[in-house]
Amino acid sequence: MTHHPVEKTSLTLLGLGAMGTALARTWLTAGHPLTVWNRTPARAAALAAEGATVAESAADAVAANALVVVCLLDDPSVQDVLTGTDLTGKDLVNLTTGTPAQARARAEWTRTRGARYLDGGIMAVPPMIGGAQPGGYVLYSGSRELFEEHEQTLRVPAGTRYVGEDAGFAALHDVALLSAMYGMFAGAAHAFALIRKEDVDPATFAPLLADWLVAMAPAVHQTADQLRSGDYTKGVVSNLAMQVAGIPTFLRTAEQQGVSTELLSPYFALMRRRLAEGSGEEDLTGLIDLLVH
Ligand code: NDP
Repeated sequence: MTHHPVEKTSLTLLGLGAMGTALARTWLTAGHPLTVWNRTPARAAALAAEGATVAESAADAVAANALVVVCLLDDPSVQDVLTGTDLTGKDLVNLTTGTPAQARARAEWTRTRGARYLDGGIMAVPPMIGGAQPGGYVLYSGSRELFEEHEQTLRVPAGTRYVGEDAGFAALHDVALLSAMYGMFAGAAHAFALIRKEDVDPATFAPLLADWLVAMAPAVHQTADQLRSGDYTKGVVSNLAMQVAGIPTFLRTAEQQGVSTELLSPYFALMRRRLAEGSGEEDLTGLIDLLVH
């Protein structure tokens, strides 16, 4: 019996920065015919040696394939690169980080040029692309048809999570997840600052911190449940009144350790405001409503 290898979709990739280069390698390794272009041509040389076709211009690169992936610095660079290319009939997948509004505008811009549009938010750093380090994935939103038709190809560099037809949703989820990450980093920075001048080995402290953050992370499910039901007292274990009573301990400890409270204070201020509104029986979910204008 003759074995017929499954034909791999050919595609174009515009942008060979750290991320674009990592993406390109995975498609080449998986046997996808790949055409690449980069503003600075030298960055394409290594990939050419690995089997990529290097286009002379962005317009030539776009013309080469129906599936066109862009991974550039920001939305203005996408505008620069795609202006003057013919997108008619193309499937454009934009993995460039941007705001939800930029993604929605880019989707409309693409539609008026006769192409389908899928936006992507990469939840990974380059070493996670291609599975060398696990855990990375890409959020997608926009044309469902495009996503479903090309999912096999899009799954090569990293896992895929389709989050909706609204082209802005990938960026929205991306920024929301990264914002939570910065909150976590802010808390960790304060924690390390507290032990900084003491005889506590940061390497001994780090596993305790990581385990604690992991243990606390599932609290987001209760938050979601409360937001859905509108009942912020549902399942409360540590109520706001009790938590606000604990604030002076945090502030005094910081002061005694010579540590600024500038990262923690804004959160404590919200907790106190919510308590002053008479929400002592809730936990922290009500703070979300204080943030939304
Ligand atoms: P790099 O800075 O390494 O590369 C930027 C790329 O954009 C290069 O190909 C550069 O071309 C190109 N570029 C910039 N401005 C222009 C322009 N005006 N015209 C044409 N090309 C331009 O960035 P990354 O590859 O790391 O990131 C690419 C995207 O991926 C970004 O949106 C980033 O936010 C996102 N991302 C990156 C992650 C990371 O950890 N690296 C993680 C998650 C998302 P040239 O080589 O000529 O300068």
